[in-house]
Amino acid sequence: MTDFQQVASRLIRAIEDWPEDGVTFRDITPLLADPAGLAATVEALVDAARALGPIDVVAGVEARGFLLAPLIAEALGTGLVPVRKAGKLPAARLTEAYALEYAEAVIEIHADAVTEGARVLIVDDVLATGGTLAAAVRLFERAGAEVAGALVLIELPALGGRDVLAGVPLTALLEY
Ligand code: AMP
Repeated sequence: MTDFQQVASRLIRAIEDWPEDGVTFRDITPLLADPAGLAATVEALVDAARALGPIDVVAGVEARGFLLAPLIAEALGTGLVPVRKAGKLPAARLTEAYALEYAEAVIEIHADAVTEGARVLIVDDVLATGGTLAAAVRLFERAGAEVAGALVLIELPALGGRDVLAGVPLTALLEY
């Protein structure tokens, strides 16, 4: 086990049946609230990001990707782009919808958020079914960027998200 995995498995909290019955929610807030936990998280994320080769911009997926992406972007010396839920971005947008269990979700980026050919790293806290990250990948590809990789703290392999992201290098620091 790495230092990150040790501190993360101690501090990431499992909440049963939240936000609905049958879901075990992986709560990263105690990990980020702990100084050593935050330091180990940043170090592991930045190491994983560097292993993906040159990165021009780091994108964080609303909401918990917003807690992680800036830490990586600042360390790599890149820019930072938010992937937002529908209706939050003020300027011209690209939009992608994807299916949730009982509904549809929509995420957006500004149409001019990335330059043609930019190598983007997309960051979120958890990979579950992969629907969110796959939609984010489509957004950046439509914007003309190259998706250098996707990076998450936690992968839930039983939900098959990795297969949905086939073709995109995916790094997960922990699996449950
Ligand atoms: P999915 O699109 O199914 O891969 O779901 C990923 C999104 O839902 C991420 O933005 C996660 O923050 C959130 N999510 C899904 N499942 C969980 C879980 N068990 N614990 C915490 N967050 C989750």
